Amino acid sequence: MGQTAIITGAGQGIGEATAYRLAKDGFNIAVADINEQTVTQVAQNLRNQGFEAKAYVIDVADREAVFQLVDDAINDLGELAVFVNNAGVAFIDSVIDSDPDKISRLFDVNLKGTYWGIQAAATTFKTQGHGGRIINAASLASVEASALQSAYSASKFGIRGLTQSAAKELAADQITVNSYSPGIVRTPLRDSIDARTAEIKGLSVPEQQANCLTEIGLGREGSPADVAEVIAWFASPNAAYITGQTLLVDGGMHFS
Ligand code: ADP
Repeated sequence: MGQTAIITGAGQGIGEATAYRLAKDGFNIAVADINEQTVTQVAQNLRNQGFEAKAYVIDVADREAVFQLVDDAINDLGELAVFVNNAGVAFIDSVIDSDPDKISRLFDVNLKGTYWGIQAAATTFKTQGHGGRIINAASLASVEASALQSAYSASKFGIRGLTQSAAKELAADQITVNSYSPGIVRTPLRDSIDARTAEIKGLSVPEQQANCLTEIGLGREGSPADVAEVIAWFASPNAAYITGQTLLVDGGMHFS
């Protein structure tokens, strides 16, 4: 058996691109997502291309399920090497009108889900005894907040803090914890953000998208593959000395 990489939210978008990218690097891939149809399809496509992959239907907000995912993936695919906490949700609404149930669910998935992933992966890495890589989805919204994204931005600022604290605590066990911060990447999530932002601002969707483009120094939106490349680097031997960092993948929208 080989080395396993678990990727949550891998049914589409950045997670799906990461599944392919890490498969190319030789990892066995545990493709995990709440959406049974997409996750099954991604795992099947990987196997059709000759890679070792298995689908797991999971809600990352369910702590027990996340621990079970790690156990199952190790049994099915081999020792855990990488855990990518990529699953996430977003909604756009004013800080005054945001629906309490939506706010709670967003924190449960984005922040607590990432927390459970770190706990489950770190527990296993400590037992295995030779380190590991935990890689979390932050966002440009984790360093620079936008209007209408209060809950999302709070969850992503939280993920950056969680990444740093866990990195300090786990470093002695050679477990690195880093995060990636996409700017504007065209995924289904981004489509829904643009549509709702345009509606609230009274713009057409193309107008909203054109406004966003002017903020990107390199003049184009990012692709899921651009982000997957950074995740693959964090997972690689080349990044062995990097921990507690967030790397912006935003085409030059923000410099810190
Ligand atoms: P992006 O690619 O920008 O990260 P997407 O919305 O395209 O955003 O992908 C997010 C993925 O996370 C989707 O496949 C979605 O089904 C998955 N996801 C959302 N919530 C959960 C959850 N609670 N548990 C597991 N996966 C989830």
